[in-house]
Amino acid sequence: MSKKSSILLIYTGGTIGMVKDFETGALKNFNFDQLLNQIPELKLLDCDISTISLEQPIDSSNMQPTNWVDICNIINENYADHNGFVVLHGSDTMSYTASALSFMLENLSKPVILTGSQLPIGDLRTDAKENLITAAQLASLRKNGRPYITEVCLYFEYKLYRGNRTTKASAEHFEAFASPNCIPLATSGVNLTIADQNLRPYRRKKLIVHEKMITDILVIHLFPGLNEELLTQMLTKTKFSGVILKTFGNGNASTQPWFLKLLKNCIDRDIPVVNVTQCLSGVVQMGNYETSTQLGQLGVISGKDITTEAAIAKMMYLLGQDLGKQVFKTIFETSIRGEMC
Ligand code: ASP
Repeated sequence: MSKKSSILLIYTGGTIGMVKDFETGALKNFNFDQLLNQIPELKLLDCDISTISLEQPIDSSNMQPTNWVDICNIINENYADHNGFVVLHGSDTMSYTASALSFMLENLSKPVILTGSQLPIGDLRTDAKENLITAAQLASLRKNGRPYITEVCLYFEYKLYRGNRTTKASAEHFEAFASPNCIPLATSGVNLTIADQNLRPYRRKKLIVHEKMITDILVIHLFPGLNEELLTQMLTKTKFSGVILKTFGNGNASTQPWFLKLLKNCIDRDIPVVNVTQCLSGVVQMGNYETSTQLGQLGVISGKDITTEAAIAKMMYLLGQDLGKQVFKTIFETSIRGEMC
């Protein structure tokens, strides 16, 4: 490896590399090399940049766990030769991918920064250039001969976030992402300001890629009037391995006996049920209100202040680890990649 930082840009698709189909008016993917030609400024960065593209770039609404495995394998195969990675990704599911990669890449000691844009790179008012250039710059940073950032992050509109703390919050604004329970790791203004105290510490351990993600899980968003018959049908007549319950406020739910009985039935069958709040920010605290006390007593797992995206990824990952019921609960309730408080 040369003295200069060397980073790998991994193109997966998304608006950043799309162009308008003049016949239909819809945005579709175009050629990755054309994309790089649009940003000659990248050559001004003091680092070597190499590029690779998924065989078939996709709109991120089509992102699947098999694509996450492909991205992880590209990172793993190029790990020794690069100081950092920038993953160009559609914004729609970027927080899901960032969360998943954070769990799948254990002992990461180099930056993996996801970015994209709200407008295509060829658009006059595009946000793609700043996002890509600064993401690349952040990925190339080194301190004392080591990568400065050693985790999966998401960079968008002047902010670097911990990837598994983000959620897409706007389909309109350039500031498309929010990280309500974790302050940005860096901000880009006249200077790049890095919140050193919030970065995950460097670890000298071998990277381990976890490819097994169990996907037969349910996300149940509670609402007043949730239908008993439908939920009973879903929770007793289908086969699934885990449930994420999106509850009210700081982890509250209806106390109707039929509802609690259905949850108990899942837990008795060793199917983990995780309590995640519907609120954008704040933390689940079972027992704070009477409407959450029984959830805690039943053995429902606290998602604390985790995002739904990270809860889904963590559940897929932990289910793939074949853990016992109690160990699963303990690990789920513990921050393993900075994903919860
Ligand atoms: N639909 C696009 C995608 O997620 C939107 C974007 O790139 O921002 O791939």
